[in-house]
Amino acid sequence: MAERILVIEDEQKIADFLKRGLTYEGFQVDVRMDGESGLKAARDTPPNLVILDVMLPGLDGWEVCRRLRAGGPVSILMLTAKDAVNDRVKGFEVGADDYVVKPFAFEELIARVRALLRRSRTAEDTVFRFDDLTLNVTTREVTRGNRKIELTTKEFDLLHFFLRHPRQVLSREMIYDRIWGYDFGGESNILEVYIRYLRTKLESNGEPRLIQTVRGVGYALREE
Ligand code: CA
Repeated sequence: MAERILVIEDEQKIADFLKRGLTYEGFQVDVRMDGESGLKAARDTPPNLVILDVMLPGLDGWEVCRRLRAGGPVSILMLTAKDAVNDRVKGFEVGADDYVVKPFAFEELIARVRALLRRSRTAEDTVFRFDDLTLNVTTREVTRGNRKIELTTKEFDLLHFFLRHPRQVLSREMIYDRIWGYDFGGESNILEVYIRYLRTKLESNGEPRLIQTVRGVGYALREE
């Protein structure tokens, strides 16, 4: 059965462009021109993926994304005219899975769409890998190369969160939100403490750093 993509975009030209291209690629495509009707369409016929414009009349894309996220598991790809780091962070905070900056080439978009759908199809997978790091959710085993690493529950949860979002900048607020609960953050430095624990364990054999500090924002799992 064809995978279903819901496009929420108020610009007719772009909506047509997306519908045409995605249909040609074999997807079943629904288009809605505003957030309210987009949310309704997602409720009535849950899509595998939503392509969501940020600038929409009425409810903006951020709010639509937040509500879609609250409604259940769905991949969300946001379209934005802005490429500011803050917007990207905001997108991930409201639960977007990825981003395409306008104007974009269809090839760029379709590559992201396929990657997201692939990722959601394997959401049941229990093993996450990045570089020489492996985390098995079922056995709770973590290894770097051949070296086994013992983690506490919080350290494990934190690393798991990074591994689910490789190469994305995760803001401190978002990490607090997901790992410690939303009313925790603010002045606390517990996150910094846990990042230090994790780095110490992950790098104890002199391995290169995988959890990078993104100054003023948060952290990202990526190569140095
Ligand atoms: Ca728009």
